[in-house]
Amino acid sequence: MGDKILRILKEIVGDEYASADEAVLYPYSFDLTWAKPRMPDYVVLPNTVEDIQRILRLANRERIPVVPYVSGTNIGGLCIPENGGIIMDLKRMNKIIEINTETGYVVVEPGVTHAQLSAALKKEGFTFSWPVGPPAASVLACAINCGIGHLASKFGINAENISSMEVVLPTGEVAKIGSCAFSDSWHSLWPLPQLAGLFIGWLGTTGIVTKLGVWIYDIPPFIKVETVATDNVEDMARWQRAIRRTYVPLDVTAVSWWLAQVPIPHPYVEKPKDAPEWYCFNVLTAWTEKQMDAYVDLFNKIVKEEQQRGSSVRPYPYPEEALKGRTQLPSRIVGTTKNYCGSGVAGLSWPGTFTPASNWPPLYHEWKTILIKHHFSPAVRLTNFQGAHYGMMRAFVPFDKRKVGDPNLRIKGIDNQENARQALLECVEAGVKYGMIPYKPPVDFWSILNRKADPGFISLLTKVKDMLDPNGIMNPGKLGVR
Ligand SMILES: Cc1cc2nc3c(=O)[nH]c(=O)nc-3n(C[C@H](O)[C@H](O)[C@H](O)COP(=O)(O)OP(=O)(O)OC[C@H]3O[C@@H](n4cnc5c(N)ncnc54)[C@H](O)[C@@H]3O)c2cc1C
Repeated sequence: MGDKILRILKEIVGDEYASADEAVLYPYSFDLTWAKPRMPDYVVLPNTVEDIQRILRLANRERIPVVPYVSGTNIGGLCIPENGGIIMDLKRMNKIIEINTETGYVVVEPGVTHAQLSAALKKEGFTFSWPVGPPAASVLACAINCGIGHLASKFGINAENISSMEVVLPTGEVAKIGSCAFSDSWHSLWPLPQLAGLFIGWLGTTGIVTKLGVWIYDIPPFIKVETVATDNVEDMARWQRAIRRTYVPLDVTAVSWWLAQVPIPHPYVEKPKDAPEWYCFNVLTAWTEKQMDAYVDLFNKIVKEEQQRGSSVRPYPYPEEALKGRTQLPSRIVGTTKNYCGSGVAGLSWPGTFTPASNWPPLYHEWKTILIKHHFSPAVRLTNFQGAHYGMMRAFVPFDKRKVGDPNLRIKGIDNQENARQALLECVEAGVKYGMIPYKPPVDFWSILNRKADPGFISLLTKVKDMLDPNGIMNPGKLGVR
C-alpha cells in the first residue's frame, strides 16, 4: 500500500517532491504547542492546481487523510496529522500572481510569505495587515484562519480583507469564489452568497485554497506612535474604549507588563512595584502634517478627559525593543523565536482571542490567577478590531517542552507540557464564560467549545463538513466533531 501510494505521489509531483522517509516526515510530526506528536505517512509538495486535484482524487479514492501545510506556525497543533496520512506542503506554490494598486488588492498562492509580500508591496507604497508572527508564515493560511494583523483595529481581521478565492474541493473539483468567478478581477466577495465562508475559519478541513485575493492599503506618509500606560486593566480597557470611538488610530494594542518584556519572563516573575501594569501603543497615520497635528491634539484631549474621570492613564514610554517588534512589521523580533520560544524552551501556546471588550477586565483577573498558579507570566494582549465591535484578548504562554526528569528543569517536579495544557484549558474554560471564542483552536479547546455550543450549530457544522468532504479526508479530527 505504502509503496503504491508513494509511487503515484511521485508520478504526480516528481521524485524529489514526495517522500515517506522517516527523517523527512519527522519535522511535520510536532509543533510549538503541547499537542501530541504524530507522524504522517507521506509528505508531498505540489506545484500546480492540477497536482493538488490529482493528489486529492487519489486520497479521496483511497480514504487517506490530507493535511494542508505551509509553515506550521499556527500555535494550535493544526497541522499535526491526527490519523497519519499525507502532509500537503504548499511552499512551492509561492507566486504573487497580481498586485493591483488601482483597485487595491493582490492575488497570492498559498506559499507566499508575509516577508515576501511585504517586500513586494513596499515598492508600490502599499501594505497589508502583518501579524506579529513569523515573517516566513503564509499570508493565505493566516487570512483563511482568521489571523490578525496590524491593521485590524481599523480594517478588521485578515479574513475580513479577503476579496476572492480559488479552492480545490476534497473530491478534486476546482471552484472560484467572489468576483473572480465571473471575470479576471479579484476585487470583491460581495454581493454574492458568502461561499468563501465554507473555507474561512475551517482550519483546512473543507478544501485547499489555491489562490487568495486580499485587499491592500496605501501607506500614508506620516506615522506617529503615541504610547500610554495605566496601573490597572480597568483603566486600560476604558482607555481603549475612549480612543476607539474616534476610528482614528490604525492600531490600538495594549499589553501587560509581562508581554512588554523581550523575552517574556518565564517562569513567572513579579512586576517591579513602580512599573505600570499596562502599556498601550496607538498608531496614528495621516496624509498631511496638519492632519497629524489634529490627531495628536485629539489624542491628548482624550488622555486629559480620561484623567479627569479618575483614570491612571498617562503618556508613558513603551519598552523600546518590544515597541519596535510590534510596530515595525513583519517583525524580526517578536515574530522570531526571540521573544517567545527563546524564553520558554521551545514551547508556545495561547488562549484567546475574540472576547467582548466589556469582559476584558474580569477575564484578565481570572487569567492572571490561573497563569501565576501554573508559574506562567500573565503576558496578555488587548486589541480592538474594526473600531469597537469585537476585540482580542490573548495570553502568550511560553513553556518548557522538556519533561520531568531533565536535570535542567526550570520548574522542578512538574510535567511542563501537561502544566501548560492544564493552564490553557483553565483559561479557555474561564474565557468561554465571558463570551470568548478561541481562534485557531487546538482540538483540546474544541472539546470545551463543543460542550457549550448550540446543538443546532454543531449539527449544521457537521452537515456542511460531510457535504464538502464526504469521505472525511481533509485534516480530520481538527474540529472536535469530525
Ligand atoms: C511567535 C508567534 C506569533 C504569532 N502571532 C500571530 C499574530 O499576531 N496573528 C496571527 O494571526 N497569527 C499569529 N501567529 C500564528 C501564525 O503565524 C499564523 O497562524 C500563520 O500565519 C499561519 O501560517 P503558516 O504558514 O504557519 O500556516 P500553517 O500552520 O502551515 O497552517 C495553518 C492552518 O491552515 C491550514 N492551511 C494551510 N494552507 C492551507 C490552504 N492552502 N488551504 C486550506 N487550509 C490551509 C492548515 O491545515 C492549518 O490548519 C503567531 C505565531 C507565532 C509562532
